[in-house]
Amino acid sequence: MEKLITTLGNLSSARAGVILPHEHVFVDLRTSDQPGYAQASIKDVIGVMRPELETARRAGIGTIVECSTVGVGRRVDILKKVSEAAGFPLVLPTGVYREPWIPGWVHQADEEALVEWLSAELNEDIEGNDIRAGWIKLSAGDNGLTECERKVLRAAARSARDCGAVIGSHTVRGRVVRDQLDIIEKSGYTPDRFIWIHAHCEPDFALHIEMAKRGAWIEYDAIGSDSDELFMELIFKMLDAGFEHQLLLSQDCPGYDASQPGGGTLRPYTYIVETFLPRLRDAGGDEDTIHTIVRENPFKAFARPVA
Ligand SMILES: [Zn+2]
Repeated sequence: MEKLITTLGNLSSARAGVILPHEHVFVDLRTSDQPGYAQASIKDVIGVMRPELETARRAGIGTIVECSTVGVGRRVDILKKVSEAAGFPLVLPTGVYREPWIPGWVHQADEEALVEWLSAELNEDIEGNDIRAGWIKLSAGDNGLTECERKVLRAAARSARDCGAVIGSHTVRGRVVRDQLDIIEKSGYTPDRFIWIHAHCEPDFALHIEMAKRGAWIEYDAIGSDSDELFMELIFKMLDAGFEHQLLLSQDCPGYDASQPGGGTLRPYTYIVETFLPRLRDAGGDEDTIHTIVRENPFKAFARPVA
């Protein structure tokens, strides 16, 4: 049975509801050598983020995928407490961000050790919090993968292959995604278990189509921070090209930013359901297609077999 692995247990598609596949509840984009990196009081974070998650639920959002991976402020202990306080399920990542956010121990580790680490977080537990990771979140340099990023990706493909997990990567250039899909295939895994995060950043639409044809998920995830027209145009072009079943939409809200006083300025998780989707409907997006894109697709992307 395929289930979504969340902070509040394994969910079926019906229970997961509308899934936002790329948001942050807690983040720190400073590098880990900075004083105060990823530090915040759990009580403060709950005070700020619980109402946001409760508002999201009232707006019809069922589940949020947390994208703060190792290197950009992952704090599973905080996320667990916030999720429980709000009664709101989060899908947590394992994996590591790109250089220069990659911590020293990942540079030192060989591929085998990384496979072991990722597999343990996907199948057993993250840092003693009694929660498993739902997926692998990585990143790649804008101009190409470094040796270390290649090593991490090979390890990710091997551990994901063994349990069916999806790998998502923050990659702004399509030709870098092309290299990533090649590495995943060489490692014995498949492009249809890969999410191209931030695909809207790539101006050459032919590359969106090329990666979709290879099977990858195409994610447009800055809705609400760029013009709605831009995203609607991309969505309709993908639908016209026949890729309704490989499209993911999200907003990349920052959540509580540990580098900012009081967590910084929030963006609401609700823009997509309250403003963007109604506009998409008005522009001709039909209800079945929207249902596919915001419920079925993210479930299919992130769910994996569980005993
Ligand atoms: Zn993000």
